[in-house]
Amino acid sequence: MAIVNNISNSSAPLSNTENTALKRLLSSDKCKDYLKSLSLITGFHLSVYNEKGGLLLTVTENPICKFSETAQSSTANCPGSCEERILEPLKLDRPLICKCRSKVMSFSMPISYLRENAVVVGRNGFACYEDFLEFLKTAKNKDLQEIPITAPLNFVDENYVASISQYIHNVINYMLSNLQEKQKITEKLGRFTSLVDTNILEKLSRDPNSIYRYIIDTIEFILGPTSVAMLALDNRTSTYKAVSASGKHKNAILGLEFSSKSSVIKQIGQTRSPVFRIDLEAEKLIQPGSAGKTRILNLFPVYVGDKMEGLIGVLDNELPHEDIKIISAFREYIQVTIENRALHLSINRKMDEILASISDLSTSIAPMLNWGQLLQTILEKSAQLLKAEQGSLMLLNRETSELLVEARKSIDSVVQDNMKLRVGEGIAGRVFERGEPLLVKDLESDPRILQKNRPRYKTKSFISIPIRLENKVAGVLNLSDKIGGQAFDENDLKLIQSLTPNAEFAIERNSLYKKITELEKLSVTDPLTGIFNRRCFDSRLAEEVARYRRHKHVFSILMLDIDGFKQYNDTFGHITGDRVLKSIARAITSSLRALDIVARFGGDEFVVILPETAKPDAISIANRLRESVEACRVPIEEGSPQDRLTVSIGLASFPEDASAETELFEKTDHALYLAKKSGRNKLVYL
Ligand code: GH3
Ligand code: MG
Repeated sequence: MAIVNNISNSSAPLSNTENTALKRLLSSDKCKDYLKSLSLITGFHLSVYNEKGGLLLTVTENPICKFSETAQSSTANCPGSCEERILEPLKLDRPLICKCRSKVMSFSMPISYLRENAVVVGRNGFACYEDFLEFLKTAKNKDLQEIPITAPLNFVDENYVASISQYIHNVINYMLSNLQEKQKITEKLGRFTSLVDTNILEKLSRDPNSIYRYIIDTIEFILGPTSVAMLALDNRTSTYKAVSASGKHKNAILGLEFSSKSSVIKQIGQTRSPVFRIDLEAEKLIQPGSAGKTRILNLFPVYVGDKMEGLIGVLDNELPHEDIKIISAFREYIQVTIENRALHLSINRKMDEILASISDLSTSIAPMLNWGQLLQTILEKSAQLLKAEQGSLMLLNRETSELLVEARKSIDSVVQDNMKLRVGEGIAGRVFERGEPLLVKDLESDPRILQKNRPRYKTKSFISIPIRLENKVAGVLNLSDKIGGQAFDENDLKLIQSLTPNAEFAIERNSLYKKITELEKLSVTDPLTGIFNRRCFDSRLAEEVARYRRHKHVFSILMLDIDGFKQYNDTFGHITGDRVLKSIARAITSSLRALDIVARFGGDEFVVILPETAKPDAISIANRLRESVEACRVPIEEGSPQDRLTVSIGLASFPEDASAETELFEKTDHALYLAKKSGRNKLVYL
């Protein structure tokens, strides 16, 4: 890279352009800290200028530049600043390395954020001793003591500046594109919520068709010219049918229907997650050519409670990652709104029965509390209401199927933490299982219990009632030891039953709130390839193991790693490498069933879950997969010896090879290692 000598001074005043988004970004502490550490790591002093050379931010000041700028104008090197040449990268669209008048090695690079352009300038020291001497000559009128140089001098050569500037260019652009994506999503989401907030509740009270119409109109409005369909459950035929559609290919998708038994719907039912890339023509779901070249459908389920009420279908061959997030967020929003509305209705009906003193639980207190505080408050309020001295609130941990004590109130401070019960075990376990409240006046004589009272309880009477969340029993509230020693009676039971809907609503609201704030985390796709990411794979694997425990459905997993991909990247560059990753992801996905889960595990590793597939079948699927990757032509010159890539595959089956997720995973990883060791482009299973 050539060095541009002598960046000339420009005496033009610094212009004051509007860089609203950039200014906002640069003024955030997070961004400043980020740039500061970048400056610290690389040793370059960084500043940001706008398109007209106006200084937006100095992250760290270069002492030589500061010295030159403050020196007398007749002899100093930098009376203004180096704003003329530093703007050149904006035209060149790449970093430029230069020496300023003071002979300081610098680079300047273009950046862009939400359509605003700017340059980042990095300044360091001198390239060589001669440059240093020249600097001293021009600085001779200044007291040399003041020159901010300490011996020994460190010289920075051009190659160093080139590689650092490239590095900084990459990381800053990576940061900006991430922020930009976030920003765009926030903006679009803002439009969504402002549209939804005011209208949806009102529309809900009308007929469902108007809601469906409303959903697709909103999506169409936000995403632009996209064909969108709303599929609703026809209870009579157990089929999801398109009831409303819009966009260019409206007519083609209006005929769409999926039986509840189809593999796509089953897959959605298992994960409650969207399914992407359903090839409508290949699946014979539409007439060939009826949707033009756009023949790929992406389905987003809409749940109300535990029931999949409908599906939003978006016709798009390459649905951008950002739009997937938006639609997922919107879907989540609709669900929450509908569910909350339903909750409101049922609570309003019972409102009269609920004592005024406790009604603040769901409305004013609950939203302000964190999860633990909320549960403790519910327990305290319940105990207060029934004058119970002891109590506990247990909730089901879905992963372990155990009831865990989440809040506790006891007479003495001997608190039994980590208490667990299996469903069906003990009193609370049985209340949970039956879903019915239990009022016991004397547990030693009650024929349903006949159990000796334990020493830590003063009285023999208690009340246990199930807690329902999203229409399913999710926990148990236990209250015992009435102050004064009497037994609990029917009135107590009624009283506490009138509180529970409020408590349930508060818990649900709190967890829905958590759900919304965790939307980002809920993202399940890998941005580069569009297939599932590692997080999604981990949770699907856990679900698969749990499913085996319940229904004894065996399954297998594959781990694939591209052979020699590092070399490939080194030869053809990362951009080509990325295209390869995409085309291999496509090759894997298209040779599997819709039911199978394909995820990018990271780097050049992919993982596949083959549900309901025992080892012999998994072996033939894996071999087919290996062959289809080998046959897939990667996007470089055709006929070149490297236009094909291969993968090595490790395979293990559950429960044949392992009895837990981690073990299964380790076995597969080991098999993959053996496949690599034995020459690559191989399948190894244990
Ligand atoms: P092996 O046959 O042993 O797997 O050899 P390999 O060269 O593929 O070795 P390894 O799997 O360890 O290297 C993975 C390489 O994948 C490292 C990096 O160059 C490349 N890589 C990882 N993530 C990405 C990515 O997101 N894009 C691109 N283009 N390359 C990536
Ligand atoms: Mg590899």
